[in-house]
Amino acid sequence: MDLGIKGKRALVCAASKGLGLGCAEALAEAGVNLVINARGRDALTRAAYSLADRFGVMVEPVAGDITTEEGRDKVLTALGGQADILVNNAGGPPPGNWTDWSRDDFIRAFDGNLLSAVALMQALVPGMAERGWGRVVNITSQSVKAPIPELGLSNTARLGLTGFVAGVSRQVAPQGVCINNLLPGMHATDRMVQLDENASKSQGITPEEARARRVSAIPTGSYGEAADFGATCAFLCSQQARFIVGQNILLDGGASRATL
Ligand code: NAP
Repeated sequence: MDLGIKGKRALVCAASKGLGLGCAEALAEAGVNLVINARGRDALTRAAYSLADRFGVMVEPVAGDITTEEGRDKVLTALGGQADILVNNAGGPPPGNWTDWSRDDFIRAFDGNLLSAVALMQALVPGMAERGWGRVVNITSQSVKAPIPELGLSNTARLGLTGFVAGVSRQVAPQGVCINNLLPGMHATDRMVQLDENASKSQGITPEEARARRVSAIPTGSYGEAADFGATCAFLCSQQARFIVGQNILLDGGASRATL
């Protein structure tokens, strides 16, 4: 399917690996020129070369922490302050116990998984609205539909972003800007390896056993793939997605047992 976005320009945050890279790949395949970001320069530069080489699009890597004002300033400068497509993403907060989290832990989680996405929307969406076209996809989590007990910081911060998007998406839809959230369930990325290792330590089992236990709770019988996640993201950025506004699209292999 031609997504109709060839030649558009996108910022994909936290995109040297995992789900962010999956989104960058699918957008590059659709002919979108990219600014991609991550903190580590080496993996980011490798990802940029590989995307440009495979898909023949322009890809500019901008290293920096997207949860800081300095990191966001760097990507916004590289974009000259404007983009057609914004994919918000950052690393997830650490797991833990709800009785242990301090105010500072919550503030870090809010900076990482709520306020940095809000700041980038505030910087880029007004320009999209002025030009009459834009797409924003925020990578959140299945935890906004069904809380994950050990990821309470994520449950809390991401629900705040979901509420923000619910309102703003309706305010900018008349100007041709569609904002939606993509909710990953368990996907085979470094983040899952890390969570499997944490589960293995806390439950006294091997990481392989921890993974097998998690997978057994997914009706499809496997973790999701970043490439499939990216393809859904690219569709939400397509011309054809113009009627999809303020939605929370769950990609979890059926793991959340909810009717709606
Ligand atoms: P991942 O495989 O660990 O990749 C994370 C990517 O983000 C890397 O490129 C990393 O590069 C970059 N990154 C992390 N923190 C950053 C920061 N502060 N600024 C800029 N770049 C940053 O993680 P993932 O599985 O793709 O997860 C992406 C998001 O989805 C996370 O918020 C995660 O919590 C959420 N999620 C994932 C799953 C899953 O199953 N994978 C499920 C639910 C939710 P650097 O380290 O070099 O910065």
